[in-house]
Amino acid sequence: MQGDDRSIAELARALRERSTSSRELVAASLARIERFDGALNAFITVTPEQALAAADAADARLARGEGGPLTGVPIAHKDIFCTRGVATTCASKMLANFISPYDATVVERLAAAGLVCVGKTNMDEFAMGSSNETSFFGPVRNPWDLERSPGGSSGGSAAAVAAGLVPAATGTDTGGSIRQPAALSGITGFKPSYGRVSRYGMIAFASSLDQAGILARSAEDAALVVEAMAGFDPRDSTSADLPVPRYVAELGRPLAGRRIGVPPEFFDAGLDAGCAARLREALEVLRQLGAEIVDVSLPHLGLSVPTYYIVAPAEASSNLARFDGVRFGHRSTAAGSLEEMYKRSRQEGFGAEVRRRIMTGTYVLSTGYYDAYYLQAQKARKLIAEDLRRAFDRVDVIAGPTTPTPAFRLGEKTDDPVQMYLNDIYTIAVNLAGVPGISVPCGFVDGLPVGLQLIGPAFGEAAVLNVAHQYQCATDWHRRRPADPPAGAKR
Ligand code: GLN
Repeated sequence: MQGDDRSIAELARALRERSTSSRELVAASLARIERFDGALNAFITVTPEQALAAADAADARLARGEGGPLTGVPIAHKDIFCTRGVATTCASKMLANFISPYDATVVERLAAAGLVCVGKTNMDEFAMGSSNETSFFGPVRNPWDLERSPGGSSGGSAAAVAAGLVPAATGTDTGGSIRQPAALSGITGFKPSYGRVSRYGMIAFASSLDQAGILARSAEDAALVVEAMAGFDPRDSTSADLPVPRYVAELGRPLAGRRIGVPPEFFDAGLDAGCAARLREALEVLRQLGAEIVDVSLPHLGLSVPTYYIVAPAEASSNLARFDGVRFGHRSTAAGSLEEMYKRSRQEGFGAEVRRRIMTGTYVLSTGYYDAYYLQAQKARKLIAEDLRRAFDRVDVIAGPTTPTPAFRLGEKTDDPVQMYLNDIYTIAVNLAGVPGISVPCGFVDGLPVGLQLIGPAFGEAAVLNVAHQYQCATDWHRRRPADPPAGAKR
């Protein structure tokens, strides 16, 4: 038995019928974390007392007949979301002792919807990475093969859901950090449009790209949770003041008449042959369900990785300036002067990848290089966004791979940042354009899961979720579970 196989919708129904209790579900989740997180390292912080108290409160509401559609269901939060009274580390030594005085909007809204948080998940440091190996708290292991990476940066959330420790976990996606780990871990990962979910209380990496979303076992579960966390928030000036559609109500729509675009640029030489075969099978399933498969072109897709690795570090270098040991974060005790204290605090507090991003970002923003790099990148970003916008004049959804290969070995790419960066080649354009994207499991290559990516136009989440759900009604890849890892306590 690999944990509780029920979907969030099924768990919520059982809770409302009182055939289970929130305490029972939360205790089972905590027990699996206790048993298996030694092998996985998916959690940075586990909060049993708070979780059981929140479960009892949810049960009391359910007993009074007051629960909503998510009341009493366990969830975990990526450790990038501020949680009042509970450590929020961003997987960095810099914030290892940071306790936020307030909750992120995502945390607040999901708690208001009755979800019970069991803990905070591991991630790449400040969400910079694609393998979860840049975490100060050590790498996360992929439940399908413990020698491999679950992907990143939301690797802890992905592994926790894949291993059945929690039915869903929040994530953030700046260049692929929800979709890529979902693909490599064999689960569903959904990133809404930029502005759909508030960034308030979500520690900033690259503010024009960062977006919160969810890692879950199905598109239906993702739709249920995102409905509860999305919507205008006056505390985030980039939050979109638009009504949130009832995504769940759209899921059942048949695919007949839906136009799905497939760009040849997604099937380039970098795509693993096994992954390409799984994708073609997935497209055939969508065609048989009545969708029309249409050729579309994204001619500037090749610019997306270099563009991203200018824009994201530029914004990161500015966002991370606040972590200086004075306003926020680790303070070195070894310094003799004020300037030395700043330098040493940042040197000691940040890991190598974060320092690489800060240096790259500072360089591309500096006088003399700003025009050559940052301004050029902004122009390229516009071209990439235009490609997508034009494609959506002709199709409802674009389909392609999420990643070029299945999960790679831990350590395989750590010495070569460019190889690591290329893992996001199919996900980054979505962030540069601010549109929604989902990754759903579509089969296996050598026992490792493969993801199908579906992309929609800005604020077109409903179409993406609808196509993903219809695909999952016709296939059972999303129901496959890895064997439980060896039990054992955390070191
Ligand atoms: N892997 C990309 C990076 O390292 C994207 C990370 C993310 O989406 N947070 O920046």
